[in-house]
Order: sequence, then structure tokens, then C-alpha cells
Amino acid sequence: METLRTPYFVIDETILQNYYDMLTGSLSHSWNNYLVGYSFKTNSLPWLVSFVKKNGAYAEVVSEDEYLLARYLGYEDHEIIYNGPYKSRTSFRNVLLAGGYVNLDSQTEIDWLDGLAEEYPERPFSVGIRANFDLEKMCPGETTMGEVSGRFGFCYETGKLAGALQRLQTIPNVTVTGLHLHSSSKSRSVNIFRSIAQMACKLQQEFRLDLSYVDLGGGYCGGMEGRPEYPDYFPVVAEELSRCFTPDQTKLIVEPGISLISKCTTFVTSVFDVRDIKGTRYVMTDGSRFNIDATMIKTSHLFHVLYQDDDRKEDTAPARALMEKQIISGYTCMECDRLFSHEKQPELLPGDQIIYENVGGYTMSLNPLFIQYFPAVYVRQQGKLLQVRRKWTPEDYVSGSVTALQDP
Ligand SMILES: *Cc1c(COP(=O)(O)O)cnc(C)c1O
Repeated sequence: METLRTPYFVIDETILQNYYDMLTGSLSHSWNNYLVGYSFKTNSLPWLVSFVKKNGAYAEVVSEDEYLLARYLGYEDHEIIYNGPYKSRTSFRNVLLAGGYVNLDSQTEIDWLDGLAEEYPERPFSVGIRANFDLEKMCPGETTMGEVSGRFGFCYETGKLAGALQRLQTIPNVTVTGLHLHSSSKSRSVNIFRSIAQMACKLQQEFRLDLSYVDLGGGYCGGMEGRPEYPDYFPVVAEELSRCFTPDQTKLIVEPGISLISKCTTFVTSVFDVRDIKGTRYVMTDGSRFNIDATMIKTSHLFHVLYQDDDRKEDTAPARALMEKQIISGYTCMECDRLFSHEKQPELLPGDQIIYENVGGYTMSLNPLFIQYFPAVYVRQQGKLLQVRRKWTPEDYVSGSVTALQDP
């Protein structure tokens, strides 16, 4: 295991399976009519997609490319949950015609639907609609959008949602059977999901909707010390939903991403150089901030160190001097590629490993092809490591390109 060339990601399959089972166990206990739509954008590693597919999850996609990837990896059109503002017309039609889930996000999509319904007047079409609502007011300080507004779906407060529903009602063979209420929050609290469920009830009552599904979206916590886990959310959601819905008539859709895959994923890096410049110790590693924090928002990381002269035993610092401060940096040539400040810790030396934890979401698929290509990914199965993505090479990078040296 130690001989593998760093950097690489490792996914522990047992932990992943535990999280998947915790999710479905909690859902079946609280609302025994549910569907899991795995959020492709969070991590679309093919092995991971096939793992969740094998476990019964549908594909939650938000672009034509993600839709095509889902198809490529074996999803049928009816196993797709199609969200977001950037769908393509062809894929939109394919999913609707196959009876998959489409959550309308814009006026243009209503036009597309209108056209499709006219083309197939004998066919009934069921769609969902994404509601944009003031979650910040219900959960002050907790949302990502804050007090301004979210930018997805049809706004409830300004009457756009009512307008869209009215217009959809005029299309004879179209019925709105679903509500999509995904909202991203900073807190990922149980209270956020209680409020989303309350909103589902409010909209159902106000617009007299007959819903075959309520889609809560994603944004749960999972595998974070002191934070909620799946079994904390769904009893509360069910308590609220049961005021207006029954599991017999209304399916609960959830779209987990990061909560499923954080706990099981680590990123293994090695120190390759240390240098002192004007009193600062820089520890150069073969893992970059771009590998695990491409959006440059993290201020701290969960990690542990394996010191190479101590048989890489965890948490047993070898007899090395403590250093006041070491700046752990990445391999890129960008000054900002500094991961964290390591204070009052044993001196790190080339060959030591820094292993980051909770890095499953928004990392592998949000990793630029910058200076180094995608790192390898391994899956730990019964103590063995199986490579599920090899490190990308220049051949992978140039695939699809032509050079000026080639004849036209
Ligand atoms: C991003 C997103 C998700 C997944 O969010 P996580 O925070 O990774 O759980 C689910 N649904 C929609 C519509 C999203 O945009």
C-alpha cells in the first residue's frame, strides 16, 4: 500500500455502503415511499456512479453533459432526475417522453414543454417545478443565498411561481405532479429541512397541488463530527410532510451528494521538499489546494500525518523537533496554493504523508487539469486497494484535440 505513487484518492467501500444503507434505512423508517437521486455534480467518478446505481439510486443531473454521462454509464431516460437551469432541449424531451423526472426551472422550459405536449396531444405529461422561496427568512443566517435571493426556479414571493403554475394549467395534457425545493445552506441543519418540508405543505395547500412527489434536493451533512446524520433529518421531515401528504400518494425524493461520500474518501499526499525562506518553512507536497479545495473556500482541513521513519504509524510522532510553524503547500506554481499552517508540530520531511479526510465531494470532479492531470483513485475493498481511475496522462489530456503539426 505504501508503495503506491502519491497523490491519490481512496474511497472506502465499507464506509460508503454504511452511509448508503443509513440513508435508505432512515428513509424507509420515516417515509416508506422514497427515491434517491444521486447528485452527479458532487462527484461523477464512474465507479461511484455505478456503485449508487447498483444500490438503486437514480441519476440527478443538471446539464446535457451530465445527462449523457448518465446514459453512457447505463442509466435509462426514466431513471433520470433532471434539474437546474441549463438543460438541453433534446435531453429534456427524452426524459419527459420516457417518464423520468424533470423539474422545470425557467420560462423557456415551459415553452419546450408546451411544444412537446402539442406534438403528442394524446400523451399525458407529468412534471415537477422548482420553487424559489425565502428560506433565509425561515432560517436566518443559515442559507447560502442570504438575504438577496436564490437564482434558481420560480419565485414564490413575487408571484412567478403562481404565474408558471397558471400557465401550465392551460396545457391540457400537462400536470404538475412534483415540487423541487433544493436550497443550499451553510448550516445543513435539521431546521433547514424542516422549513423546506413546511414550504412543501404551504405550496401544496395554497395552489391545491396534487403531488406524486416532493423533492427535498440535497445539502445534508454526513460524517462530520457533532453534526446531523441522515437519521436526524427524516423523522423531522416526515413529521412536517405528514400534515399534508401521505407516503401512499406522495414520494419523497432526496438528492444527496457530499453527505454520502465525504466520510469514506481520503486524499493521500507526500512531502517532496522543504525549504526555508526568510524565516518561513514551506513544506512542498504533491497534493494541491486545487485537488481538494478548487473553489478556494476552505479555511481548515481534516487530516492526519504518517511519518515515514516510524513505519508510518498514525499519530505517533517520531523524535523530531517541534516547529513553530510550517506552511503546507501544493505542487503548483501559484502562490495561493497553500493548504494550511501546521503549528507546533514535528518537523515534516520528504517522504512523510499528509492524508486529508472528508474529501469526497466537490473535489475529484471539480479538479482542474492544471500543471498535473487528474490523480488516481483507489477503492478499498476488504483491505485491498482496487484502482478505479488511473492517473491521467498527456494522452488523456490531448484526446479530442488536433495540433498544428498534423495535416488537416
Ligand atoms: C448540488 C445539488 C445537490 C447535492 O448537494 P450536496 O450538497 O452535495 O448534497 C442536489 N440537488 C441539486 C439540485 C443540487 O444543485
